Amino acid sequence: METKYIFVIGGVMSSVGKGITTASIGKILQSKGYKVCLIKCDMYINIDAGTIRPTEHGEVFVGEDGIEADQDLGNYERFTGIASTRDNYITTGQIYKTVIERERNLEYDGEDVEVVPDIPNEIIRRIKEASAKKKTQITIIEIGGTVGEYQNLLFLEAARMMHLQMPNNVIFILVSYLPIPKKVGEMKTKPTQYAARSLNSAGIQADFILARAETKLDEKRKNKLSVFCNVPKDFVISAPDVDSIYEVPINFEKENLGNKILKKFNLEQKKNNLDDWKQLITKSKNVKKQVEIAIVGKYFATGDFVLSDSYISVIEAIKHASFQNNIKPNLTWINSQEFEDDIDSIKNLNNYDAIIVPGGFGSRGTEGIISAIKYARQNNIPFLGLCYGMQLATIEFARNVAGFKDANSTEIDPNTKYPVIDLMQKQRKILKKNNYGATMRLGNYPCTLINSTLARKLYNKENILERHRHRYEFNNNYLDLFKQKGLIISGINKIQNLVEIIEIKQNNFFVATQFHPEFNSRPLHPHPLFFGLIEAAINKPANC
Ligand code: GLN
Repeated sequence: METKYIFVIGGVMSSVGKGITTASIGKILQSKGYKVCLIKCDMYINIDAGTIRPTEHGEVFVGEDGIEADQDLGNYERFTGIASTRDNYITTGQIYKTVIERERNLEYDGEDVEVVPDIPNEIIRRIKEASAKKKTQITIIEIGGTVGEYQNLLFLEAARMMHLQMPNNVIFILVSYLPIPKKVGEMKTKPTQYAARSLNSAGIQADFILARAETKLDEKRKNKLSVFCNVPKDFVISAPDVDSIYEVPINFEKENLGNKILKKFNLEQKKNNLDDWKQLITKSKNVKKQVEIAIVGKYFATGDFVLSDSYISVIEAIKHASFQNNIKPNLTWINSQEFEDDIDSIKNLNNYDAIIVPGGFGSRGTEGIISAIKYARQNNIPFLGLCYGMQLATIEFARNVAGFKDANSTEIDPNTKYPVIDLMQKQRKILKKNNYGATMRLGNYPCTLINSTLARKLYNKENILERHRHRYEFNNNYLDLFKQKGLIISGINKIQNLVEIIEIKQNNFFVATQFHPEFNSRPLHPHPLFFGLIEAAINKPANC
């Protein structure tokens, strides 16, 4: 079968869930037995998301092969269970870089190299190459931004050209938004009409409109969108707000979206298989009990909304583990600087059933985080440290258990007397050259779990692969001494001789990892460490 291509394009405004929509379409078609591949096109000149501040652009999602990508790739993985690689992520920067390099290598045979068609051609080449490599039947490509923007024009141009080349194998889905202005009190279709026209002026006619709105679309508005946007009424799909993102594919299927797409492609229509997904949602809706989880980090700059975007995989991993434990998690973001300003306020941590310290960079707020880790350790509050969380837990142990009073990471204090967390030799050279892009220890690395440890018990296997994104490491000069003082090293990378997981035996749950387990959590397969944390949170004695 020839590969089919679906372009998902946004209209009206951003943040209406284009990534979740793309992931949901992938999930539906996959559940009907088709092999899918999901690609995100980002309009930035950045080669990858690794150099972008998460508070600006959301979490940097790390693929198996170490690609630092847009957070949407995380949604794709969580919905389809297919691990992402660099083939799933295209940026304007990558495209221009390749075209310019090719020109320098005389690969254009003396022709002048032009923005059109050479840039769209390179986009098309990549989309086709990724599909061929992954042997997919249906490739779904999400174009970042919204139609009408200058920045994503060349991606739209690529989509248009692909349709011209294979009209039967390419369709376009416009994900639009229908506002309900408070004063007016009714849902307005006009912005979507404009979006559909903008798309027309890029040479593209939407085949489907997914109408995002607070509520369901009524017949009248479906008719209106159909007539004015030139889309069959049946192909105008209602996409109302839902409580859980995992409901989106099920909602789409209520309108038979999957088979409508298959019909459009002339492919065999099939029954979906979303039963386990449906059960999960029913289960998550019926939970009555709640656990209180504190996420402690440095000053979370731009308010709740952006904050949750910056740690989306951590949040989703907590949810997955909670669903399976029949519990609802209530998350509280705690700015660690609070503890630096008023150390007495640390006692408030007693109100939580578990504490998570997620990944991070820089020195800001780290003393407050270290105090919080100390409190968790001393008061047996279930604790999970992720990457920086593991490094700071090591510093806490060094200072307060092993007696190295001023121990630190050289990231925080380059002149520390006891650099218990330090740069690897290779990283030193990289940083000297200011070579920051894609040079961290990235992607999957193996880790061997040590017998009789909590990590070994939770994973229930000896060898694991987990994703990484860091420059600094546990300093092995302190390894034996810390072990003697009671630190459990429960995971190591034998090839590079690196500490990957630490534990404190006396505590019910005190585990910290140099890697990011959150990237491997799936709704139906919660990550064992998050599962263990939530289990420990449920079993935490009141006010221990
Ligand atoms: N800043 C730390 C390092 O680079 C931790 C990174 C992280 O938490 N992802 O090693």
